[in-house]
Amino acid sequence: MFSSLAKCVGCGAQYPLGVLYTCETCGNILDIQYDYEQVARVVATKGLVDRTGRGIWRYRPLLPVHESTNVVSLGEGGTELLQCDRLASELGLDGLFIKDETREPTGSFKDRPIAVATTKALEFGVDTVVTSSSGNAGAAVAAYAAKAGLRCVVVVPSTTSTGKLTQMVMCGAEVISVDGSSSDAFRFAQSAAKERGWLNISTTFLNPYPIEGNKTVAYEMAEQLGWRVPDWVIVPIGAGPLLVGIFKGFEELNRFGLVFGLPRMVGVQAEGCAPIFRAFEENRSVVEEWTSRPATIAGGIADPLVGYRNDGTYTLRTIRRSGGLALAVSDEEIMEAAVCVGKTEGLFVEPTAAAAIAGAKRLIDSSRIQKTQTMVCLVTGHGLKDTSAFSRCLPTIPTFAATEDGLREALSHLPGAENKSSPS
Ligand SMILES: *Cc1c(COP(=O)(O)O)cnc(C)c1O
Ligand SMILES: [Zn+2]
Repeated sequence: MFSSLAKCVGCGAQYPLGVLYTCETCGNILDIQYDYEQVARVVATKGLVDRTGRGIWRYRPLLPVHESTNVVSLGEGGTELLQCDRLASELGLDGLFIKDETREPTGSFKDRPIAVATTKALEFGVDTVVTSSSGNAGAAVAAYAAKAGLRCVVVVPSTTSTGKLTQMVMCGAEVISVDGSSSDAFRFAQSAAKERGWLNISTTFLNPYPIEGNKTVAYEMAEQLGWRVPDWVIVPIGAGPLLVGIFKGFEELNRFGLVFGLPRMVGVQAEGCAPIFRAFEENRSVVEEWTSRPATIAGGIADPLVGYRNDGTYTLRTIRRSGGLALAVSDEEIMEAAVCVGKTEGLFVEPTAAAAIAGAKRLIDSSRIQKTQTMVCLVTGHGLKDTSAFSRCLPTIPTFAATEDGLREALSHLPGAENKSSPS
């Protein structure tokens, strides 16, 4: 293994790799470091891809894992990069790609960070993992903990969708529901972990290991584009570890000379909870907590960052370093985008994931992107996780008699009936 230590992004303090959370000196985020010279030697002789691994584990030299015997896997990673010509022309672009994370084992990208985090839990020899989650991380932790034989506790806001809760429960998680926001769930999980000695694998920046799994999105994307870097990568962001992880992945690829250049990172938030966007728009260097109650259908990114605004500041810094930007989209735009990506590309995505498409549309409409540039949208979670969010898209579907007359009547009721009769 080539990971060497963890370094604080604030004060630079260094820690040996063990059970780690935030910096003991200044409280800021820890970032896993690697012996990149050694990795470069491996990459130079054998290439980046380890052919004995699958999905994210094809990139094991750049994951902070000791022994392959501890690897917990349900087949995460290795998702399609879909060329979306119909969506592109709808949006007025020459081309557009979607990195389709709906097809991960539990239906969201969270399987990447959680596969790494659960593997670390086995390495550390703990028997219980806990996470706070708006739903997808909890569903992932439940599944991977089950596979690893670990006890799993998930703390969720009471607004979490039934689909995601059912996933957790069916995979054996013990669920605590809090009448509050993601930040309240975060605080609960942190106190519970401290009190009971559980390993907290929340996918904010609290634990430095899960974010390493997010880097694999960049490796796959570059490989799928023929070792080229897209001009823009558009990501829905809560605290931002997905966006930051993807950018770190691209920086590593540059370091090894596997690609040249870096993408501009676009972080998309929901208007009803947009602390990072607000700081970006007001040209601030520090992200402030979002003090009103989050109000959006995009539950996966409704993170007010109360008690951990450092996370937002770190994400903001990464966005700026990439030459990118932050956006906030309305629930209307999110719904429209979900309908559009379904009708044009056959992808059923949850509202949070649709925010990336809504963000792309904003970028194009405001002429901040050129028609010919390469854009990749991260579609982060499956629509089946939260079908009730789309209940207002679902018309009342009438039922007809099972007779010849019933069929004739049914066909005359179809919206396309007037102009779509068959030529025979
Ligand atoms: C968690 C989540 C995000 C946001 O990821 P962060 O890394 O927390 O910023 C985006 N989309 C979906 C579907 C999620 O579950
Ligand atoms: Zn520090």
